[in-house]
This record gives sequence, structure tokens and C-alpha cells, in this order.
Amino acid sequence: MPRRRPPRPSGRPLVVNQSVEVRDGREWHVRRLTGATSGKAYTCPGCYRPIQVGTGHVVVWPVVAALLSASALDERRHWHTACWQRA
Ligand SMILES: [Zn+2]
Repeated sequence: MPRRRPPRPSGRPLVVNQSVEVRDGREWHVRRLTGATSGKAYTCPGCYRPIQVGTGHVVVWPVVAALLSASALDERRHWHTACWQRA
């Protein structure tokens, strides 16, 4: 009899273009955004240059919040896709 695969964990919608990556011993959610998002300009922590409005980039936040932050979402950072991959 074939072994059944464990069921996929439920209650968590499958989000396209989002994954978890490990950097510096921490796990990070990485969401890839295509150009058309908010109209806000962000500064990339990798190169300290602005991410132009309408440019595809990644949003990164820790899976586990740092001790002093209220929530992991407070630690959200916007990176150029290339800077994140290089970092
Ligand atoms: Zn950058």
C-alpha cells in the first residue's frame, strides 16, 4: 500500500511570490513585488539609494520579531531585488 503524503498545513493561504529565506541565522519572509504597488518611495538598506516608485523590489520582514520590536511587521524593509540577493 502506498504511503500517504502528510496533508498540507491548512489555514495558511498559499501566497504567490512569497517565500521564507534564511539570512544571518534568522528566517525572513520575502515578498516579491512587481512594479505597480504603492506610490511611496523607499530607501533600500542595501545601497542606501531610493527605490524608485514603480520599480519591482522585495519586501522583507523577520519570521520572528526582534526582542524589542512590537511586531515583526515593524521590521519590514524594502530592498532592491538585486541588493537583497547580493546581501
Ligand atoms: Zn539597493
